[in-house]
Amino acid sequence: MTTRTLSNGTELPVLGLGVWQARDGVETERAVAWALEAGYRLIDTAQAYRNEASVGKAIRESGIPRAEIFLTTKFYPGGKDPRAEAEKSLERLGTEYLDLYLIHWPQGGPTWAWPGMEAAVDGGLTKGIGISNFSAGELAELGKTARIQPVVNQVQFSPFEYRAGLVDACEAAGVVVQAYSPLGTGKHLDGPVLSRIAQATGHTPAQVLIRWAVQKGLSVIPKSVHQDRIVENFDVFDFELDDAAMADLDALDTTGRTADALSASGKWWS
Ligand code: NDP
Repeated sequence: MTTRTLSNGTELPVLGLGVWQARDGVETERAVAWALEAGYRLIDTAQAYRNEASVGKAIRESGIPRAEIFLTTKFYPGGKDPRAEAEKSLERLGTEYLDLYLIHWPQGGPTWAWPGMEAAVDGGLTKGIGISNFSAGELAELGKTARIQPVVNQVQFSPFEYRAGLVDACEAAGVVVQAYSPLGTGKHLDGPVLSRIAQATGHTPAQVLIRWAVQKGLSVIPKSVHQDRIVENFDVFDFELDDAAMADLDALDTTGRTADALSASGKWWS
């Protein structure tokens, strides 16, 4: 699996499974098990998803050494103490450490939770800490006070939400961008441009969207609870989108290549 080296030296796989809206229990357990079987080594969950226990169970039962899997969870910013909440996540996940712990969104401002996130690193609860749904401005504000720098900013990103300004700001700050909702939570899978490129490359629309994000140099975390789709979404390393196809996809952007993240009113944040 291709990886991006994070500023703390850990290796982030460029493709992983997201499990927002995967139901706790069998649905999540099977999705994670199928993903690991297909070769995924990055799993993205969150305290707010309420399925950490199932993610942890599937990882343990896979028999794959924990060290070979990159596990992310996110601090729910309605909480008060990121370190204490990380301990609870580890209990639910049944594991000793996280690879990455993100502030889910900058509720209450971009800096208040960071000392607690740093305490989670100091306590050995997580290897890296990062942010999600932070704009370039919020990242800059955090950078001024942070003792430990964020390694990742996880944001909504697809050809339709091509946040190029935000990616540039993150890269300049040594922060790797991770693309969430790469398929638009399932809503970006048709349309003439995507269908044409999918047909021309002999791949599915989902594969084209995922491949586009990978070629942008991002880590990308599509979600599915169906085995055939989990396998399909991972099968994106045997083809390349040419410059013309990349440019046609870039042109689908509706954000003006923004440096902003999804605004606080975005009700599908989760
Ligand atoms: P995606 O953009 O990954 O799309 C998932 C949807 O598309 C599901 O409905 C899924 O259905 C469907 N789907 C998946 N693969 C295919 C396929 N090959 N063909 C057709 N349909 C397909 O959605 P998400 O919004 O869930 O984003 C992915 C992950 O990003 C989340 O699970 C979460 O981990 C993370 N995320 C983080 C956020 C944050 O605030 N930090 C916010 C939103 C997401 P089905 O499952 O039924 O197969």
